[in-house]
Amino acid sequence: MLVELSKVIFHEGYTIQQESKLDLTDITVQGEKFPVLAPDPVKLKIVNSGDSVLAIQVQGKVSAVIPCSRCLEDVRYDFPFLIERNVDMKLSAEEMEESEEEYNFIEKGHLNVDQLVKNELLINWPIRVLCKEDCRGICSRCGANLNLGDCGCDREELDPRMAAVKDIFSKFKEV
Ligand SMILES: [Zn+2]
Ligand SMILES: [Zn+2]
Repeated sequence: MLVELSKVIFHEGYTIQQESKLDLTDITVQGEKFPVLAPDPVKLKIVNSGDSVLAIQVQGKVSAVIPCSRCLEDVRYDFPFLIERNVDMKLSAEEMEESEEEYNFIEKGHLNVDQLVKNELLINWPIRVLCKEDCRGICSRCGANLNLGDCGCDREELDPRMAAVKDIFSKFKEV
């Protein structure tokens, strides 16, 4: 959602306080797209703290659907957040672009709340997600989800050391 900033930019001490609905339906992380669930509106507060500096605060929670690193089942991962950013609106669009800080959530006098939340998700994106601490993963032979029970495959053979031992045994049998 875009929030018009012109009023707050030009009036020192002016405050915008409102709930904002996110239009965030997915997020792309390293080329992979993940669905985002944003059930509740976020709390937004923008204060002109003087000298055209805006203190922006966004508080809320979204969840993303991320596959379990072991069994690939969908996991709902919660991202609660409290984002606080000060933006000097005296900076030109070029200055914002060249800055080391990320200002991609400011668009022609508007605050793009979705973009601000996206930035936050990217910073806090988990390296891996498990559906449960002791997830048993999938069978490396048949692909069955081992949390649902054993598929009956003989997975020991996939361990190369075990395979070598088994080969020796079967050779003995052949003789
Ligand atoms: Zn799992
Ligand atoms: Zn199996």
